[in-house]
Amino acid sequence: MITIADNTCDFCGACVSVCPPDCIEIREADIEIDEETCIDCNLCVYVCPLEVLSSDDSPTD
Ligand code: SF4
Ligand code: SF4
Repeated sequence: MITIADNTCDFCGACVSVCPPDCIEIREADIEIDEETCIDCNLCVYVCPLEVLSSDDSPTD
């Protein structure tokens, strides 16, 4: 699952363009990820220049 940090995104659209299932959407001043469609490839995490996106798939305590 991808976590979106608050208030750091500049809506460059890089994550939207790399997402294979096209599940990231930029709406007005907000970014949304459809978790049902996300395949956890983490491409969006790697491509984001501002480190807005992070992956939660590390093991939990
Ligand atoms: S992890 Fe992959 S599928 Fe999920 S939102 Fe990011 S680019 Fe899209
Ligand atoms: S790549 Fe990062 S800064 Fe660019 S739109 Fe996506 S989350 Fe925002």
